Amino acid sequence: MNRIVIIGASDAGISAALSAREYNRSTEIHVLSADNFPNFSICGIPFFISGEVPEWQNLAHRRIGELEAFDIDFLPGHNVREIDAGSRQILASDPAGTTKQIDYDRLIIGTGAVPVSQKIPGYGLPGVFLLRFMEEALELQKFITERSPSSALIIGGGYIGMEMAEALHRRGISVSLAEIGPTVMPTLDPDMGEILREALASRGVQILTQTPVAGIEQAKDTLLASGQNGPIGSFDMILMATGVRPETSLAERIGIHTGTAGAIRVNRRMETNVSDIYAAGDCVETWYRLLDRYDYMPLGSTAHKQGRIAGINAAGGDMEFKGIVGTQVVKIFDQVAARTGLKESEAESAGMTPFSVRLTLPDHKRYYPGAQDMHIRIIGDLKTGRLLGAQILGRIGSEISKRIDIFATALHCGLTVADIAELDLSYTPPLSSPWDPVQEAAKVWLRHEKAPTGVFPITGKT
Ligand SMILES: Cc1cc2nc3c(=O)[nH]c(=O)nc-3n(C[C@H](O)[C@H](O)[C@H](O)COP(=O)(O)OP(=O)(O)OC[C@H]3O[C@@H](n4cnc5c(N)ncnc54)[C@H](O)[C@@H]3O)c2cc1C
Repeated sequence: MNRIVIIGASDAGISAALSAREYNRSTEIHVLSADNFPNFSICGIPFFISGEVPEWQNLAHRRIGELEAFDIDFLPGHNVREIDAGSRQILASDPAGTTKQIDYDRLIIGTGAVPVSQKIPGYGLPGVFLLRFMEEALELQKFITERSPSSALIIGGGYIGMEMAEALHRRGISVSLAEIGPTVMPTLDPDMGEILREALASRGVQILTQTPVAGIEQAKDTLLASGQNGPIGSFDMILMATGVRPETSLAERIGIHTGTAGAIRVNRRMETNVSDIYAAGDCVETWYRLLDRYDYMPLGSTAHKQGRIAGINAAGGDMEFKGIVGTQVVKIFDQVAARTGLKESEAESAGMTPFSVRLTLPDHKRYYPGAQDMHIRIIGDLKTGRLLGAQILGRIGSEISKRIDIFATALHCGLTVADIAELDLSYTPPLSSPWDPVQEAAKVWLRHEKAPTGVFPITGKT
């Protein structure tokens, strides 16, 4: 085996290329991408639009020259049109439209995901944007700079919609956000989402819950958004952030199997059902170790890890993807919301017996200046005592993401709630308490394990 070809130069594709090179110094590696922005941080787009990252070029994880120093051949602007698994070749159009035929011994598909928002009538009108790739970010930036919109509607109250609400607000735009569900951030339990909704509303973002947007029309200089029950309002621009679907068209045409949410089915070695073809990132199903099954959870953190496994295995190694536990974090204004594992409703649907407590605790000893309250929800299984999930909401600077990572590590290792209370975690008054809030939450769970799920306001206890 001496030639690896990778389709896609984002998180999964680049991670695969670098890991393959690290594992095998002599293999030939070629990476093709339809776009012209290899190895850019899509996750950073909201911070470029907000102005916090002033130059789009700064979003590059690595410049192309740095990547080529690893002896990897990059072909940006190359759209792969066909895979011929029989003769082990791909056909790609280069930027001039010329078709190139490239042989492979092992192929890695990292074609990512595409937005689903096109289903809303009005998609394509000037001033209506999607936000998935660098090209779209640059278009949006140009529009805001040249047209100075004063009002915007964001469709979708997930983490991208929320990050963009802050970004546009920072640009002086009056922001409304329409969410189909009862509150924002459906990846959190509703009471936690509600706290986040209030935090956004207090900054002047208008949050319209249970507001499905049915269509958009051009009305003179503005865009009119309407729902099932009539008009929602008129806006200078509209951003659709209603989720993604896996980009699997190339794979499906050669009989690669798909599964959950139409994503490519892979085994834990990131192999598809077609010999010597691997896949990773937003285009594949993800092994969800907590539920012992595959799911679809497109995230950059996961794409990097899956890409590494695919790259190492394609280069001759033998590694398995250990799976995710559903960990995610987002910063909105000065608030940070993080989750890992299952929500109570998800645990119930999976046939578990979840019991959860929510409490409010200071992030460090109250006597030391700057202590901030954080809300913690911990979910455990009443039958087994196992930790099932956790959610934390609080201020930036309160180590929210690293605290959720303690829970994520516990979930990865299958710890019980009682085990968490026993962990040897660090303590100094400016940063924590002798019982870190994570452990205090575990102790409260253990104390109330026999009571109904509830909220336990123990502010000021530690
Ligand atoms: C605004 C925003 C913010 C985000 N923030 C976070 C965050 O904070 N944390 C987090 O974990 N995740 C975040 N994500 C998600 C994260 O960006 C994705 O999970 C990640 O980019 C997926 O990487 P990927 O390599 O699988 O696919 P993609 O990034 O979708 O890249 C796909 C690649 O495939 C190429 N391609 C597709 N089809 C072809 C073809 N036919 N021929 C050649 N090339 C092709 C594309 O050109 C591209 O290079 C965010 C996403 C967005 C949009």
